[in-house]
Amino acid sequence: MNAPTNAIVFDHVSKHYGDVLAVDDLSLAIEPGSTVALLGPNGAGKSTSINLLLGLLAPTKGTIEVHGHSPAEAVKAGEMGAMLQNGALIPELTVKELIDLVRRLYPRPLALDELLKLADLTDLAGRRANKLSGGQTQRVRFALAIAGAPRILLLDEPTAAMDVESRLRFWASMHDYAAGGRTVLFATHYLEEADEHSDRVIVVARGRLAADGTAAQIKADAGGHAVSFALGDQPAAGLDLLPGVTVVEILDGTATLHTSDVDATLAGLYRSTTLDVHRLKVSGADLEAAFLQLTRES
Ligand code: ADP
Ligand code: MG
Repeated sequence: MNAPTNAIVFDHVSKHYGDVLAVDDLSLAIEPGSTVALLGPNGAGKSTSINLLLGLLAPTKGTIEVHGHSPAEAVKAGEMGAMLQNGALIPELTVKELIDLVRRLYPRPLALDELLKLADLTDLAGRRANKLSGGQTQRVRFALAIAGAPRILLLDEPTAAMDVESRLRFWASMHDYAAGGRTVLFATHYLEEADEHSDRVIVVARGRLAADGTAAQIKADAGGHAVSFALGDQPAAGLDLLPGVTVVEILDGTATLHTSDVDATLAGLYRSTTLDVHRLKVSGADLEAAFLQLTRES
């Protein structure tokens, strides 16, 4: 038998809570060493998927494998660490005591100093857990998630309750941990986070897979770029025939051409002998537009 090549496999997984279908026939495979964003609006099924992966919930249908094993086996072997959406710290302990307590539960934990450094907590080591800000608490929870040096790290909306500065520090910590060839799957409903911090974005909506690819691919698939210019009172006829153009919008004397091939559209515009093109602007379809389109479609 071949060794399994994927870190995580969902094979036609569904999960019902009574009448609610939270995960709907989800299939995906994640390669070891990748950093993947699970992007979707609230209620999309992100947390349910992560809890299924951890074996905290059982699928109604389908199977899940983690490095070729069941979630329960993988958890038992210390393969996965997780930061879930909620979870309190023991208030009486200091940051250092708490992290040390948890790391000792694992057979091959990271060193205490390394954990404090990775989670950017060295300066807070002596602080009691009930005296931490929201962002600092999340960093401690991150340290606890990586304490056992898991090959797979699951983060469920890890930056909720963090300010901008804390977010930056948090993502830097995540990238440091991922750099050792580990697999990271993080849930988010922030498009910018998915865009900036993953190699691959899996978009879910209403429990279903809506898109899967790099952020750039998803943006391109959802309509590429837009070219706009001042049309004035020139006729708009023929704009829709320019190469690459998918949709033409005219508003207040400005023409906006949505295009799947921005270079071809621009070349076509410049070749035109009848059009006077002023105040030309090219914009990328942002992930937000792509995301809205995708989550509406499904
Ligand atoms: P997300 O994390 O993407 O916001 P969830 O996985 O938490 O989504 O929820 C997916 C769907 O399942 C939602 O419609 C939610 O209301 C429902 N749901 C989640 N947990 C439960 C539960 N314990 N009982 C019933 N419905 C639930
Ligand atoms: Mg959630």
